[in-house]
Amino acid sequence: MPEVSPDVAQDMTSDVPASVRAACARASRVLALIVVAALPLLLCVALGRYEAQRIARREANLASTFIVGQIVSIVETAQGAAYVFTTRAAQPCDELSADLTLKAATVPYVRTLNIAYNGMIECSSALGQRSVSVNALIDGHLPSVQGEWLMLVNNTSMVRNRPSLLVGVPGEQGRFVVVAVDVQYLLDLLHGAAPLSVFRQAELNVGEGAVLREAQALVHVRDAPLLADVKKQMSGATIELRIYGLPERIRETWGGLLVRYMPWAVALSALLVWLVRRLQKSGQSRRDQLLRAMRAREFHVEYQPLYGVAEGRCDGVEALLRWVRPGIGEVRPDEFIQAAEEEHVIVPLTQHLLKLIVRDVATWDVAPGFHLSVNFAPEHLSGDALVSDVRALCAAVKPRGVRIVLEVTERTLVRNTEQARHNLEALRGEGVQIAIDDFGTGFCSLSYLEKFPFDILKIDRGFVLTIEPEGHRSVVLDCIVDLAHSLGAKLVAEGVETQTHLDYLCARGVTWIQGFVYAKPMPSEAFVRWYRANGARMSPGTSGTPVTAGTP
Ligand code: C2E
Ligand code: CA
Ligand code: CA
Repeated sequence: MPEVSPDVAQDMTSDVPASVRAACARASRVLALIVVAALPLLLCVALGRYEAQRIARREANLASTFIVGQIVSIVETAQGAAYVFTTRAAQPCDELSADLTLKAATVPYVRTLNIAYNGMIECSSALGQRSVSVNALIDGHLPSVQGEWLMLVNNTSMVRNRPSLLVGVPGEQGRFVVVAVDVQYLLDLLHGAAPLSVFRQAELNVGEGAVLREAQALVHVRDAPLLADVKKQMSGATIELRIYGLPERIRETWGGLLVRYMPWAVALSALLVWLVRRLQKSGQSRRDQLLRAMRAREFHVEYQPLYGVAEGRCDGVEALLRWVRPGIGEVRPDEFIQAAEEEHVIVPLTQHLLKLIVRDVATWDVAPGFHLSVNFAPEHLSGDALVSDVRALCAAVKPRGVRIVLEVTERTLVRNTEQARHNLEALRGEGVQIAIDDFGTGFCSLSYLEKFPFDILKIDRGFVLTIEPEGHRSVVLDCIVDLAHSLGAKLVAEGVETQTHLDYLCARGVTWIQGFVYAKPMPSEAFVRWYRANGARMSPGTSGTPVTAGTP
């Protein structure tokens, strides 16, 4: 039996050196921690920026919708004043002039009311009959439309360097009534609703004319984000308002959001790091704990005697691994065996068990042909190490007259068809007996019984428990017994606890009885003493108090 150190055993599960795998595992653990730590912080920063921009856009949209609505209302007022004169547009100026002046003075927003014809201002509320070129009024741009029109101009002939909004409506005989709206109203609107303290620039376009900017000095908007661009069609023209944001103000909002939410993000990040660390530790520690426990020799083996019905004596044991953790106590075998399987340390653990068995058996003095059953897990059964491990075990226990029985469960057989069968056939050819453990609990079809070589069926304790004191038939149990007989297999009944169980099973030709009614699992030295005292003659139930584990 070769010495199997846990470290070496660990290496056997992979071609990559353990140090490299450990370094990779450490690096991936650190990376995972960095990612979970950074994720909430990055999300907070990104969402904060997105939210700051969203707030700025919402403000700009509200402001521009309000401003454009107000401009529409101003234009409608101007058009209302103009329409009063559309049917009188062809009248001589001296009949119109006073009314135009009165109207211009009384209607809000209106600076002048003018009648335009043939490129000339025929009559004006400000200038009376003095003819002025229309081009002078509208700054050289005459809209080429027949109906209503709107236009922003930088100057008018009457007021230089002062933009105006011109509102034109068609009048009689090819004339236009043109209202000049003082742009101060629009500027006040822009100042009030989209102040420069909040936005970098507000630009108003009406039709094809000049652009009205809130900041009259040309402001560079190249680095400023366009927050709102609201358009409204009116009187054949487009009223368009663009608002550009102040990057420093958006940054300020962003900073405020970060101050408010960053502590939460930091807390979340710390929580996630803690959770991941815990997860990593629990995953890592299960594997590490098992490997460390092997090195610290915390495992030992207990042996549960099997009563051979025909011989009337103990002619075998099942080896059961035990883990007693210092300061914690005994760990349930099904728990740590499952953990070892999940963490892929079951092969090294079983190799460790074999080493312990070899050490124990060296002190035994049992009858020749004595059976020693050892449980093997699926991973081991389908691996390359199985045959050599079992061969080494057989060789080591042979001088003590001990024969090895290999216990495998149904699920093992179902999962590992080819390699497992190959391994089992090889070992069986060398005299190792194969027992199917926990028979009947694997939820599988019985077809594997034909495929796999085996010698012994172990009836699960669950079926033994169906035996009733009144002596009624346990139908499924009887079927299993019949099946084993017809397959030529020997039978072990597990978990036999009462005289009723025992009588029932013996009457049906079960080969071995394993259970507390005969003996509990016990450490090697206790088993040696028990065997010397009772093994050759004690029948189940005769002693009244079966030997218990840990009570040599
Ligand atoms: P198992 O292979 O079916 O082992 C038999 C279990 O039945 C043992 O539990 C034994 O103590 C228990 N037992 C025996 N007679 C009685 C009885 O009369 N009444 C009751 N209630 N129980 C009885 P244990 O030692 O706790 O092991 C539980 C399981 O852990 C084992 O079931 C086996 O699947 C696994 N296991 C234990 N040792 C090893 C090992 O060395 N290798 C592997 N792969 N699995 C092992
Ligand atoms: Ca077993
Ligand atoms: Ca079993």
